[in-house]
Amino acid sequence: MATTTLPEAEVLETKTTTTKYVYFFGDGKADGNGKMKDVLGGKGAGLAEMTNAGLPVPPGFTIQTEACREYMRRGAVSREVDAQMDAALDKLEKLQGQKLGKGDNPLLVSVRSGAKFSMPGMMDTILNLGLNDHSVEALAKRAAARFAYDSYRRLIQMFGNVVLDIEKAEFEEVFDGKKKQKKVKLDTELDSKALKEVIEEYKKVVKKHAKRDFPQDAHEQLVMARDAVFRSWNNDRAKHYRRINNISDDLGTAVNVQAMVFGNLGETSGTGVGFTRNPATGTKEFYGEFLMNAQGEDVVSGVRTPVHITELEKIMPDVYNQLRDITTRLEKHYKDMQDFEFTIQDGKLYMLQTRNGKRTGLAAVRVALQMVDEGLITKEEAIFRVEPNQLYDFLVPRLDEKGQKIEVLAKGLPASPGAAVGQIVFTADDAVEKVGRDRKAAVILVRGETTPEDIHGMEVAKGILTSRGGMTSHAAVVTRGMGKCCVAGAGDVDVNEKAREMRVKGQVFKEGDWISLDGTTGRVIKGKLNTLDPSPDDPELQKFMGWADPYRTIKVRANADIPRDAIQARAFGAEGIGLCRTEHMFFGEQKIPNMRAMILADNEKDRRAALKKLLPLQRNDFIGVFRAMDGFPVTIRTLDPPLHEFLPSREELMVNIATLSQMSAKDKKELVTKYKDYGAKAAGDLKKLLPSLLARVEQLHEFNPMLGHRGCRLGITYPEITEMQARAIFEAAVAVAKDGVKVIPEVMIPLTATLKEMANQAEIVNRVAKEVFAEKERTVDYLVGTMIELPRAALVADEIAKEAQFFSFGTNDLTQTTWGFSRDDVNKILPTYIEEGIIKQDPFAVLDQDGVGQLVKLATERGRKTRSNLKIGICGEHGGEPSSVEFCYKTGMNYVSCSPFRVLTARLAAAQAAATEKLGVEGGRTK
Ligand code: ADP
Ligand code: MG
Ligand code: MG
Repeated sequence: MATTTLPEAEVLETKTTTTKYVYFFGDGKADGNGKMKDVLGGKGAGLAEMTNAGLPVPPGFTIQTEACREYMRRGAVSREVDAQMDAALDKLEKLQGQKLGKGDNPLLVSVRSGAKFSMPGMMDTILNLGLNDHSVEALAKRAAARFAYDSYRRLIQMFGNVVLDIEKAEFEEVFDGKKKQKKVKLDTELDSKALKEVIEEYKKVVKKHAKRDFPQDAHEQLVMARDAVFRSWNNDRAKHYRRINNISDDLGTAVNVQAMVFGNLGETSGTGVGFTRNPATGTKEFYGEFLMNAQGEDVVSGVRTPVHITELEKIMPDVYNQLRDITTRLEKHYKDMQDFEFTIQDGKLYMLQTRNGKRTGLAAVRVALQMVDEGLITKEEAIFRVEPNQLYDFLVPRLDEKGQKIEVLAKGLPASPGAAVGQIVFTADDAVEKVGRDRKAAVILVRGETTPEDIHGMEVAKGILTSRGGMTSHAAVVTRGMGKCCVAGAGDVDVNEKAREMRVKGQVFKEGDWISLDGTTGRVIKGKLNTLDPSPDDPELQKFMGWADPYRTIKVRANADIPRDAIQARAFGAEGIGLCRTEHMFFGEQKIPNMRAMILADNEKDRRAALKKLLPLQRNDFIGVFRAMDGFPVTIRTLDPPLHEFLPSREELMVNIATLSQMSAKDKKELVTKYKDYGAKAAGDLKKLLPSLLARVEQLHEFNPMLGHRGCRLGITYPEITEMQARAIFEAAVAVAKDGVKVIPEVMIPLTATLKEMANQAEIVNRVAKEVFAEKERTVDYLVGTMIELPRAALVADEIAKEAQFFSFGTNDLTQTTWGFSRDDVNKILPTYIEEGIIKQDPFAVLDQDGVGQLVKLATERGRKTRSNLKIGICGEHGGEPSSVEFCYKTGMNYVSCSPFRVLTARLAAAQAAATEKLGVEGGRTK
């Protein structure tokens, strides 16, 4: 518990104006209303609103969130809270003609948490509060004995767990033991006598673990339950949920105390949950489940199989019609799909909860369209009814979880959304081989982490699972680009690539075993689940985007390296390419040997010879990309990564050299294949080749490659590389221009820190452009600009803008260099940092507006001071993250650029940001 107790004097200090802490609802009117979610929490506001609307809601009162904040500050509520609660209880008792836990008709209540934003899993509700050794007998007499004892044992169990912190298992052990002893299977088969015994044993469990008796005093039960709800605001589950969903820790929760109604009184009673439309598909249909003779969580607990809600029409037609009528009214009233809970007691319907229902992206779009058609909401409001990230649902396969058994093996980072189901393989080569043998084979590549060497395996795999690495690890970035599902950094998965097996939760999985990945939530699931196909051409999606897009004032481009991705990006609505990484072009089959030859060259002559071979290959790729982007700008970045990324690892070479003499012929043959790109043709070559390769690798070795010989530093030390790339770009541009394609190249120099670096590279690009235009007797318009990815570059942006015609913020590296976090290793630190609240979110996933964002703003201002028409964009991973897109819009950027599969999300986020400003209000976003 994170509260501190202040000295008594402080606690007693009373306020001059009394705060209204407790809000009553019942008898057709409530003190509060539906708009007061801040004060009453979502549940309390809903109960008040339903009461005011004259709906059948069991009466009660809500203790507002300020009492919780006070509790967190002081470790106790003030006397005023107690006094107001007692007054409300008094009012409730009078209204019901009952006394809490007393007399021959005792009042029983539920104690329910409820914060402003619904937080499933924060605190379990306590039902039947007020029962004790006396009132249970009274209830037994009035209703039925079995029902009374069952309610009591449920109370002790819930109270014991939630308030007294006793493990659920302690109670379950007793309960299951009793069932065994009585030789019955179902809970409902235990009779009153057995339940009475359970109660006695439960009390012993309480005494043993809580070192006190189960409180017999009903008022004491209530006070303890209330305080437990307040404390639950700071339990781990709740804190975790708030972190993921970006909800403030300061809000606090309200407590709802409500008269019990009983769904377990017999065959004319029941309880259920439902939605006014199908939350998975958006179809307008009454959707939900219920159980007769059941209480509270029985419907969702899986003990009994609930029945589809339409069946209720047969069992109790009047109640069914009333429920349909009420929920239809609620939907009209809230102008949104409702998620509701109800209980039927002795044939009478009670509403226990209503709220805007959570839904899939598909359903969100459909429901928004329907509601505009039905005149419930405006098109402007509809734009906000879909969370930008939900649009992924249309682009990627999803797991079909209906009726399937889900065993979650591990949770990693949701690195790239969608689903993948396949047989595991542990190396890229195995993946390629398996798919080569059977084109229909579905494989999932499981690695400690991936490297550029794994690309061919990643291409053919359905999904990728890694045990290390963060949201901008190689696996994460590459798969997002491919629109392929990836779960990264699943630390519980112990991958042994050599033995070709992985261990998780004490189970061993071998090559060929089936697993399912959910890249949207980061779950790794055992076995073979079904999937649902993506539907990017969905006409309803198109219609929805047709409403949103006109609001958007900044462009959305895609990061795409090869023609295929560029075509994909266009299909998703990209308006150009914001980042074309030329090095990714070199990983193709025939290109990598030339690339390697270029890197291995230790003199300019050899290097030029290798570059000459690369030129036509690179030119062809550019031609493809330019064609795909006809009429739209294409930003091409000159070579950026440290060169050793293209070479084998130093350690691996050392091991191979040391063991070469003892190697079998077969192993040697494998090595020859492995090093064929470096010139190995026969086993005999290895003895000379490996040491010379190692020598070059040693030469290129850097302790901090991320801060090393990379970016424009490569182009400055090896100007012939920039020359070749510029030539490939302009030759391609002229060639497609001759075919009538409108081509707009923007040459981007990476990792500049000074004006002189920029000038050096711009000179080469401009010189080559001139040469090519003269040779081909044709010119095309182009720009030369830079990526801003070092703090120094941001600080001297006014200088750099003298030469740079555009800026593109490379926020992956800018985050890395501003924080001094290595993006490949940050996962060793981040989880603890987030856990401890030192950092709120992964700054590589969500732009750190307070820090990195300041550099972005400053560079934008300084750059435009020098060059007022400076074109500015972002090409880091943040370009597709909704809150970061909003920031880019507010900073005055011309465009954002992101992976093709995030283009739709970025379009909607940019439209929402602009619409919010234009309309002056948020159009009623659901949360
Ligand atoms: P959650 O936020 O987890 O849905 P709730 O407070 O809504 O928690 O309640 C959990 C279960 O208890 C629900 O099935 C609800 O319908 C039931 N419940 C809550 N209060 C009452 C009550 N006063 N009478 C009968 N059932 C109740
Ligand atoms: Mg509920
Ligand atoms: Mg970079």
